[in-house]
Amino acid sequence: MLKTFKDFSSLTFDDRFVRSLPADPDTGTQVRLVRNACYSFVRPTPVREPELFAWSSDLASSLGIQPPTTADRSLIAEVFGGHRLMAGMRPYAACYGGHQFGNWAGQLGDGRAITLGELIDPHGSAWEIQLKGAGPTPYSRRGDGRAVLRSSIREFLCSEAMHALGVPTTRALSLVTSRETIARDMFYDGRVAWEPCAIVTRVAPHFIRFGHFEILAARKEPELMRKLADYAIASSHPELDLKDPHVIAQWFHIICERTASMIAHWMRVGFVHGVMNTDNMSVLGLTIDYGPYGWLDIYDPQWTPNTTDAGQRRYRFAQQPSVALWNLECLAHALRSIAPDPELLEAGLDRYREAFQESYSESMAAKLGLKVLAGPQDQQLLQTLEQALCATEMDMTLFYRGLIQVSAEPGPLEAEAELDQIWGAAFYQEQRSEAATAALLGFLCSYRQRLTSDPLTLQERAERMRTANPKYVLRNYLSQLAIDAAHQGDASVCERLLAVMRQPYDEQPEAKDLAVRRPEWARHKAGCSALSCSS
Ligand code: AMP
Ligand code: MG
Repeated sequence: MLKTFKDFSSLTFDDRFVRSLPADPDTGTQVRLVRNACYSFVRPTPVREPELFAWSSDLASSLGIQPPTTADRSLIAEVFGGHRLMAGMRPYAACYGGHQFGNWAGQLGDGRAITLGELIDPHGSAWEIQLKGAGPTPYSRRGDGRAVLRSSIREFLCSEAMHALGVPTTRALSLVTSRETIARDMFYDGRVAWEPCAIVTRVAPHFIRFGHFEILAARKEPELMRKLADYAIASSHPELDLKDPHVIAQWFHIICERTASMIAHWMRVGFVHGVMNTDNMSVLGLTIDYGPYGWLDIYDPQWTPNTTDAGQRRYRFAQQPSVALWNLECLAHALRSIAPDPELLEAGLDRYREAFQESYSESMAAKLGLKVLAGPQDQQLLQTLEQALCATEMDMTLFYRGLIQVSAEPGPLEAEAELDQIWGAAFYQEQRSEAATAALLGFLCSYRQRLTSDPLTLQERAERMRTANPKYVLRNYLSQLAIDAAHQGDASVCERLLAVMRQPYDEQPEAKDLAVRRPEWARHKAGCSALSCSS
């Protein structure tokens, strides 16, 4: 189909969500519990002197939006800065609940996100357009409804970086900055600072979370739950028949499969979400709500970037697959009141386990440049790899990228010198222990042996590995560089990162300074290794 690009002012917005589902009759902004409704109408609170700081031209182009002119830019800043609505927009904040760190938290809802409406793209598809940091809503609880610049830059860049990596995610269209400041206690130690706030415009087919259904189950509102499920199904899965008595279970199976695929991707690229509460899980299997997330620098399965979770480490890297299952169990439990056959929901959970194993095994095979991973010997190979990576304290991204080189040369890897030649820049420790070196050489020896029985050609293997092992990931310290520059009003670092992260699998020799291990200065710097939830 031919694409017709429109300028920003002539975009078409719809209000399908609010037309299809019941609203809270109260339209005030006071904090309250909202029953028998999926959302509350609320207008964004204009942010002071909004300015369009960053724009995702890649997403804009897929939505059919023309590159903005100067006039468009100021209109965008007004609309996405909360000053102005366009035809068709009926802004609202959604009501949902959730389990936070394993405990039922009751009603949460969009405390600082406000949906403007759905943008209809040139293919007729609807995209929910949501402002994050647009001011108080009835769900703001004790919060101010705003988001600081640092967390907004992290969400903006990471949404787009994840998309380019092939990881299912919500997207980010713009970042609007402001002269308004808000108080935040970044370290939770009483040192409150005034920080500039910003608004990210997020985009997804919709932002419906597991928690949307959990709150309706907790409130015993099954009719409304069914209505919301029908809306979610009809808008994203037209192939399902709403009249089929098993449609809810069929839909749950899809959610389980998509969640499995998303988590396998996280494990492939070394992403740690940091706050996998059920209110941060999308029923579309999209990565959603970028808060204290991070990327593994040193390969450490026990790592979490979230300081709030430092004790329990519930959301650590290695635990993400089982936490996703736990979250799906919460969703299944909520859906029981509208699904007549609980055993079908149970089967959905089994499908998650299977689908995760399939996706994970496929992505590990791709990372290693093997056609498939099968049998106990390959399991043993994976274990040897895990032990070697843990023992050597190596950079995960650099390790796999270096492995492409190893896979291209037949024969045993003999000397330690070869390790340094390929991975010298990937080790975090100056001195490698003998045991670590032995573990790594041991793995490489089995690996090269294994390659000899694999059917892929050298070229196929290199291509498979290159597209599974990114050269560029949005390491925390890189985002921090963009944040530091943004605080000086400089958008160039953010723009450069956005451009480089668009092609994360390409060599991009001019950007090789962004493909290095976390520098020493960033080891303990705030925002570069660990982050609090303060945002
Ligand atoms: P999060 O941990 O960011 O997913 O947020 C959990 C809940 O707190 C959600 O309901 C958010 O909308 C809400 N929230 C977080 N920060 C703020 C804020 N500054 N103002 C109002 N609500 C907030
Ligand atoms: Mg959230």
